[in-house]
Amino acid sequence: MTDARIDRCLDLCAMARQAQGDDLAQTLDSLKQELELLSHDRNGVPAEFLSGPEKQWIKEPLITTDLAGYVTGWNRGAQMLFGYTPEEAIGQHILFLYADEPADRDNGIHELFLDHGSSLMEVRRRKKSGETFRVNLSLGHVRDENGEPVGMTAHYYEIEDRLSAEEKRRLHASIIENSEEGIMITDTNNRIVSVNAAFTRITGYTAAEAIGQTPDLLRSGVHSADFRAEVMSAMRGAGAWHGEIIGKRKNGELFPQSVSIGVVRDAEDRITHAFSIFSDISVLRAAEERMQRIVNYDSLTGLPNRTLFQQLVEQALTTARRNNDHGALLVIDLNRFATVNDTLGHEVGDELLKQVGHRFREVLREEDILARFGGDQFVVALFTIHKREHSGLVAEKLLASLATPFIIESHAVHIGASIGIAIYPEDGLHTAALLRFADVAMKRAHASESSHLFYSPEMNVLAKEQWQLETELRQALAAQQLLLHFQPKVSLRTGRIVGAEALVRWRHPKHGMVPPAKFIPLAEETGLILDLGGWILDAACRQIRTWLDAGLDLVPIAINLSARQFDAQLPERLKVATERYDIPCELLRLEITESLLVRDPEKMIPLMNDLVALGFTLALDDFGTGYSSLAYLKKFPITTLKIDRTFVIGVPDDENDCAIAQAIVTMGKQLRQEIVAEGVETHAQMNFLRNLGCDQLQGYLFSPPVAPEAFEHLLRQGHRLSLD
Ligand code: C2E
Ligand code: CA
Ligand code: CA
Repeated sequence: MTDARIDRCLDLCAMARQAQGDDLAQTLDSLKQELELLSHDRNGVPAEFLSGPEKQWIKEPLITTDLAGYVTGWNRGAQMLFGYTPEEAIGQHILFLYADEPADRDNGIHELFLDHGSSLMEVRRRKKSGETFRVNLSLGHVRDENGEPVGMTAHYYEIEDRLSAEEKRRLHASIIENSEEGIMITDTNNRIVSVNAAFTRITGYTAAEAIGQTPDLLRSGVHSADFRAEVMSAMRGAGAWHGEIIGKRKNGELFPQSVSIGVVRDAEDRITHAFSIFSDISVLRAAEERMQRIVNYDSLTGLPNRTLFQQLVEQALTTARRNNDHGALLVIDLNRFATVNDTLGHEVGDELLKQVGHRFREVLREEDILARFGGDQFVVALFTIHKREHSGLVAEKLLASLATPFIIESHAVHIGASIGIAIYPEDGLHTAALLRFADVAMKRAHASESSHLFYSPEMNVLAKEQWQLETELRQALAAQQLLLHFQPKVSLRTGRIVGAEALVRWRHPKHGMVPPAKFIPLAEETGLILDLGGWILDAACRQIRTWLDAGLDLVPIAINLSARQFDAQLPERLKVATERYDIPCELLRLEITESLLVRDPEKMIPLMNDLVALGFTLALDDFGTGYSSLAYLKKFPITTLKIDRTFVIGVPDDENDCAIAQAIVTMGKQLRQEIVAEGVETHAQMNFLRNLGCDQLQGYLFSPPVAPEAFEHLLRQGHRLSLD
């Protein structure tokens, strides 16, 4: 191997003698490499190991050992690093280079290598001179032809800074120049000696304009002498300083800057320069102010939000307490705002809220506080009233401001409001209590269709009752006080029972049967409807299974779904329930209300399609009370329309109701939907609806909702509606 290398070197020498220019340089380079390889071979590093990428390691310190750790190879890099010649090193145990004497010298390096678990590590070593140093070590194996390890290679990379002084200087200068932060360096005479590009960008002064000046160039004049003395002493080396300084740009504009100040010292620890690194934080400040607005103001109307309102009222209450003043809190809720939102769209709804806020603001005095609490709820605080009646007048003024319709995108929108009023200090002493009571009064005003109401303690009783009802309803679910009744639907062609609607009942231990109209809205408000709906679904499926097992010739049973149950998990929940009791989906129908359709058709349609795909059929409940148009209804996979009882009551005498009933039936026929008339109590109603073309009837005329046993009885008897 070595002989071949010597031959190659001789060849290269011959070539070099004849070569010129680039060729000569290349030949000499090759020769140099060969000579280095030769020197390795000489020092015992196996030449195979030095083929390939390892060639570039040659100048790097490289040591080889046998498996026991005795040095077998030592290159020039190793000699330069450690100071030992190959003659001194070869044959020694590798441990002679270790800075910290290991306890067990017999431990082979091989084990050390394995112990370490990694072939790359930072280690401490000792030079011949005795100096110790840290170095990166990479270990590898030397293998024989069969791939068996026969030795180790240890390759050292120095950790030391590889930059030359000149490279370092250039690098540092470039970092300073390109820094995002402004940098200004001053000498011991407090004269600017250097600035970077960011300095110019932020302050407007070029390097030429700044150099030679003192930092007073940027002085805004807003800081006290003390503050400036503090900054100056940092520049004189009193210690690093960090803080915010208001500076002045060349154009005279003041700007907040975040500044760090420090000094540079020479080898003798004398201060040679001071530097300040600063960033313009005016953008940050603007963002902070925006944040403040977001936190304290309603983004839609620009009015204070709940947080700010509470702060402002707390302050006003403190003053009121001192001066024995009176005050009032008014909670205002827009009537049927949700309907506007649903039918005309959110943009119109938002614009309406903006305009309402605007009108309210106009009728109030400047010192009155107006806030929006989200949704369609506005709140007013008055602290300049002398009598409680005055706040009633303000309420009327607010309501009067809504009288003229709002014109939005060519729609004329009429909107009313309900206002509840709580008085300080009679009704409450703190914001939270006053807000709660005004809210109770507002809900009462809404329910009683009064425009505004003052809070009274009796109202609280009502609110408490509601709260108690909620608690009891939660318990009712667990205590099995709920049950289902079934109301048959009959065919207007044959008079036979063709279906039934399951209606929930609550047998209250004290109050007896509580009608659903009393607890369903409450359950919807509180979210309890999800648990309640889950129970109803399960109970209906269980009942269907019982009837099937009893061999009953069953008709489809419909359950009512609240809008809140109508979510992405609904198909899965229905699937689970029907599978649990092993009942065919055709036996379970779903009644949904019109308000659901206007909610978010893009989401509702795929969900409804999923339900239909699973085999369920959908009926539209309370039809006629919403806003569905024919074109709109076409989009939904609905098979049945149920005409609401409110239109049935008036037929056949009330012309209006008759016209509506007729329109609904015509519409349903167009869509080829099955039409069910709800709440039919008389023969006259039945005949009218039958002549219009209704398919089915549900109502007291045939049967009220009844217990499961009674319904089973009706079915088994083949009970029929007499159609004459
Ligand atoms: P709905 O779904 O429109 O149910 C029909 C209501 O009309 C039932 O009242 C029924 O008893 C009543 N009704 C039926 N025929 C006549 C009649 O000829 N004359 C009169 N005056 N009324 C009749 P109910 O059971 O009190 O239920 C009221 C509402 O409560 C239901 O209206 C429905 O919105 C809700 N509801 C009842 N059960 C459930 C349920 O299981 N789940 C859900 N989400 N809501 C339910
Ligand atoms: Ca229903
Ligand atoms: Ca209904």
